[in-house]
Amino acid sequence: MTREGPNPSSSDTPEARRYNRTRRWLGIVDLVVALALLVALLITGLTGMMRDLALQGAFEQYSLALFFYVAALLLISKLLTFGLDYYSFQIEHRYHLSNQRLRSWLWDEVKAWLLELGLATLLVELLYYVIRESPEHWWLIAWAAFIGLFIFFAQIAPVVFLPLFYKFEPLDNEQLKQRLVRLSERAGTRVRGVYEWKLSEKSKKANAALTGLGATRRIILADNLLQNYSDDEIEAVLAHELGHHVHRHILKSIGVQIVITFFGFWAASVALHYSVERLHLFETMSDFANLPLLILISTVMSFMLMPLLNAYSRFNERQADRYCFESISSVQPFISSMNKLAEQNLAERSPSTWVEWFFNSHPAIAKRVAAAEAWSNVRIGS
Ligand SMILES: [Zn+2]
Repeated sequence: MTREGPNPSSSDTPEARRYNRTRRWLGIVDLVVALALLVALLITGLTGMMRDLALQGAFEQYSLALFFYVAALLLISKLLTFGLDYYSFQIEHRYHLSNQRLRSWLWDEVKAWLLELGLATLLVELLYYVIRESPEHWWLIAWAAFIGLFIFFAQIAPVVFLPLFYKFEPLDNEQLKQRLVRLSERAGTRVRGVYEWKLSEKSKKANAALTGLGATRRIILADNLLQNYSDDEIEAVLAHELGHHVHRHILKSIGVQIVITFFGFWAASVALHYSVERLHLFETMSDFANLPLLILISTVMSFMLMPLLNAYSRFNERQADRYCFESISSVQPFISSMNKLAEQNLAERSPSTWVEWFFNSHPAIAKRVAAAEAWSNVRIGS
């Protein structure tokens, strides 16, 4: 599989290419398994049997039966994909990217599954309540309710969901904090907090992010970034995250979700009416045996929109990078932090065009470095 001659991916080690290819394949297989399960449930009529069993078990009590049905669906799906999840865990170790013990990983799996069950139950109970109350306009009401929940979840994520898996502490580094204050002042904005993210207990990878909304909006910096990167490099990473903040990327992404879910709910409504009234697959709109159909629609839509959403995300990342170039005195620390991150996280510096186009939420590191160099040349030239 080795290619001769100069090519844009020559800066990537075979190891990095193999690792990223394996991860992409795992993602694809995971999606195929999910789709196959949903289609199988629908065409074999198994979903109807599950609904009958759930109703029997719940003595015909609708909400409880729906909970049983959701739990069974999530359990089947977890059993089918557990092998893949375990394989991903092993892959991280095989490439020396993980510090996590098996027991800790298993505990994370349990917590993630329970969280998924809790959130899914909440959303699905709400959804079918609205369908029962308003079979004609349910999709508009459910859309509005889901947006409200989405904003609420974005708000509580850094204080409720993330701490289930990682520890966080307010950043304890005066020098860095002062640099951030200076950066924020220049931006004419205020970030509510910077937190040290205890990532190294589980991963050797470094990371940073802007999370939360309103009062919970904060920058989180992985401890293994804080320990191994120079202050100038960390400032560059902070400036990039501040760029997301200044350009209101979280808010804009929510706006994008609002538009997409509008069409998603509309499509779901059309499909549901068709399956009930024309195909007679289900007796009523509120027959929750049709849940796999709704999940199928949202899964297929998300998959088809992935290139578009990733393109939008890459646009935001470039904007945050540009903000970073403008706020730091030299782009050199940005370039060195990019190179360090690529090496530490075994990222592909130059993925193939179609991989970047379809899968990647961030521009290729080689491109980000080239943009920094170009920007600095322009500045020197002017
Ligand atoms: Zn970013």
